[in-house]
Order: sequence, then structure tokens, then C-alpha cells
Amino acid sequence: MADTDRSYLLPPFLKSRARTRIVCTIGPATGTLSRIKRLIRSGMSVGRLNLSHGNSSDHDGYVKILRQAAEEMGVAVGILADLPGPKYRVGDMAEPEITLTTGQRFILLRTPCDGNTERASVWPLGLHNDIKKGSLVLIDEGSVELRVDSIDEESIYCRVTRGGIMKPNKAVTAPGNTTTVDYFTPETEEALAWVESSDIDFVGLSYVRNGEDVVRVRSQLSAAGKTPQLVAKIEIQQAVDNLVDILDKSDAVMVARGDLGVELPFERVPSVQKQIIRMANEIGKPVITATQMMESMIEAPMPTRAEVTDVYNAVRDGTDAIMLSAETSVGKYPYRAVQAMTKIAKRAERYLEHPKLAGRRRDAASKGGLPVDDAIADVAAVTASSLNAKAIVAFTTSGSTAARVAAYRPVTPLLALTPNIGAGAKLALRWGVIPVAVKVHDNIQAMFAEASNLAIETKIAKEGDTIVAVAGLPIGVSGTTNMLRVITLPEPVSHG
Ligand code: PEP
Repeated sequence: MADTDRSYLLPPFLKSRARTRIVCTIGPATGTLSRIKRLIRSGMSVGRLNLSHGNSSDHDGYVKILRQAAEEMGVAVGILADLPGPKYRVGDMAEPEITLTTGQRFILLRTPCDGNTERASVWPLGLHNDIKKGSLVLIDEGSVELRVDSIDEESIYCRVTRGGIMKPNKAVTAPGNTTTVDYFTPETEEALAWVESSDIDFVGLSYVRNGEDVVRVRSQLSAAGKTPQLVAKIEIQQAVDNLVDILDKSDAVMVARGDLGVELPFERVPSVQKQIIRMANEIGKPVITATQMMESMIEAPMPTRAEVTDVYNAVRDGTDAIMLSAETSVGKYPYRAVQAMTKIAKRAERYLEHPKLAGRRRDAASKGGLPVDDAIADVAAVTASSLNAKAIVAFTTSGSTAARVAAYRPVTPLLALTPNIGAGAKLALRWGVIPVAVKVHDNIQAMFAEASNLAIETKIAKEGDTIVAVAGLPIGVSGTTNMLRVITLPEPVSHG
């Protein structure tokens, strides 16, 4: 139990974390046990695997060490795995990179081949159906720009209108065209089969188009006995158009700004980001703001001032989580990037407009009358703040009580006491929730006494301070939040 406070699994570094969660993409730069532990200590709550890169044995290895690191450090760490989805990518190439020249001809093929300076394949199959003569095709977010001259059964004949470097597996985008490919591409099926055989908390759905895509992935996974939370990545216009439906069917969303800024004119990204964050706050589901947040730190030890401002603004906008991609998977300064994010998020949180953010959720939840569980979650945040309580303690088996309180963005630190550390990992994307593993109790007085001990032993509070407890009764029935109690410490030990 090294690294923890006495008998409770609450490592001291968790108390000084930002309340905004940090998602780190794991890759060659960070994929060892000691490096993952360093990322966790620096502020990572969720490790992300991008299933479009690497192979299943790499991913198996990352899952194993993420779980081992979390267990050894006594913290809940979530694992997010992103499915490829119907996103087009360049196929294999004979060289690690090739250079295309403006004005030359280039062919995109249906059939896999080793790409060269004349041709390359695109996977999954379908691009030739989505575009027409004159369409613009961007490789790797516009590093190379092609204009379509003609299309036949096998080939898309293009002219290079902006030359540049092309590498295997990079994104192929036809802005403004809707993809007609089935969500379950062969690569997505393969990634889903891997998820079904793995221990994953969150599945990221790339290139989601509508709620139906989310429903289909959920039913395939649940048929295999898996119930990870589904994170819809909003990265195309069609998804922006169908946001209400997608938010309704998903458990969380990601503002996937990399593809979004290519699929949409990039100047639209900031307003779409704010819109997605606001809508996710209203519905009380976590939202991740992703991509290029600390991009310059792939190579440099300090972020640019624009990056600092971007992270700060995303936190002030109300995001639950911020994400690092290449910064932590292949970058030179992965820990410094996480530490920089932590510092910026903590500074932004000092100025967070808690009442405004709580109001978003309250107004949306009140339509048709505020349900009991939302009323309790809301009032827990307000009561804790007015009493200057030292913590809100949410007793939660499934995680739902703590998640509900988090949606009201309490000023007061929020602890999720759960006998189920798996539920702790599932809370890893929720703004401000600190999961703590506790024993199972069969009476409420014992639970209050436990909360009191925890607060005092971990020095969150001292005798005479107050904490606010929320729970769902009867004990053991998950999914309800119907009780609030203010505890003045210490609570007498239960004899029940
Ligand atoms: C993005 O496009 O911003 C994103 C997060 O998706 P991916 O990393 O799969 O490109």
C-alpha cells in the first residue's frame, strides 16, 4: 500500500490533481509500467489506445500494464479504446514516407498495394462511392491535397494540387461528403472482437454519424457480454447535425478536433466545441476536448502560449476531460505535457463559474419536473458550498450517484466511495470525482461512520468539520440517489 494514506486507497497525489480529467494516449513513448505510473502521478485518469494504430499484442500489453499500474498505486484508471470506424486511411507503402509534387498525377486504389509516388491504396473500401469528379481529397489533414479527375471501378485518378509528404495509415478526407460505408468496416469488426476479449472501460466510436451507429455498437458488445461506456467522437458534419440523437444514445462524447477541423472549415471548430460542451453539460454526460492541445510539446519542453490558452478556455467552457494524443504516445516530453495540462487546468478551475455550469444541468433536467436523483445531486452541491463542507461523499455501487453529483460541478471536493473499483474506473472521465475503494456495508450508519473515518484519516477534514453524504436507499439497489445527510465529524461508529 505504498503511496497511499493509511488504510484508505487514496494516494496523496490524487488530492492535488486538477478536477478536470486528463486522458493520455499510450504508445511507444509511454508504454512501460514505470512510464504509465509516472503518467498517473502527473495527472492521467484515463489511458487511451487508438486501435487504428499498433497491433492487438501491443494493445494487450498496454491494457495489462495500465491495470497493473492502477492496482499497485491504489487508484482507479480508466481505459479508453478507439475503434477505427468508417474513416478512410492510406494503406501500406513501400517506404515510410513519400513526397508528392504539386501538379503530378496520383492514383488512389481500392485494392491493397505497397504505395509509391504514383499510387496508394485507401481502406476501408468505399471512398470511390462518396466522391465525384472535381472533389477535393485531403491526406493527413491537408499535408497533401488532391483533386479528383475521374473515377472507375478500381481507381480514383487525381491531380496533386498541393504537394507534400505522405505516410502510411494517415487519414484520407473528402470534406463535405457523407460516407456511405457501413459502420462495421472489417477493421472496426476486428477492433470490436479485440474489445470483446479485453478489459476496457470506454470505447471511442470514430466517425460516428448518428445515434443508430452507437446503438449498433452497443448491441454487438452487449451480445458478447460487454458493457463499456460508449464515447461518440464528433468529427464530421453529419455528427454535428445529429448531436441530440448521438448524445442521447452515447455515454460520453469527444470533440475530436483533428478530423473535425478538416471535415469542417477549421474556423468553425471553436464554436462547435463550445456547442458540444454545453449540450453534454446539459444532458449530464462527460465530454472530452481532444487533439493538438499541447501539440508543440511533441518536440518542445514548453507549450506555446496559444496552447496554454486553448486548454484554459476548454476548462472554462465546462469540459470534463482534456486529451493528449501524440504528445504522450510518441512525444519527447509526455510527463511535462501532462504536468502542464494539470497546472493550466487547476488555474482555470479557480475561475470556473460553478453556478452557471450547474444551472445548465438543472435547467435541462427540470424540463418536465426535476427527478428526485437530480434534485438530491443538485442540492448536495449547493448545501456543501453553503456550509463550507470539506467534502461531498457519494456512496455508489454502479458509479451513477457520483456521476450525477459531478454533473452539478460542485465547488466542494467530491469523493465516490465504492466497493467496486471497476465502477471507479468507469468514473474516470467524470469531472472532479475521486473514486475511493471501501468495504461493502449493509447498514447506513456504518456507511456514515466509514465516510467520517475516511475524511479524518486522509486529512480531508478534521473533527468539528462537516461533510455531505449522498446515497441511494435501500442499500445495494443501484441507480437511485434519494438521500442527503450532513455529517458533523466524527460520526459515531456503528454497532448495527
Ligand atoms: C481527432 O480526430 O481529433 C481524434 C481524436 O481522432 P483520431 O485520434 O482517431 O484521429
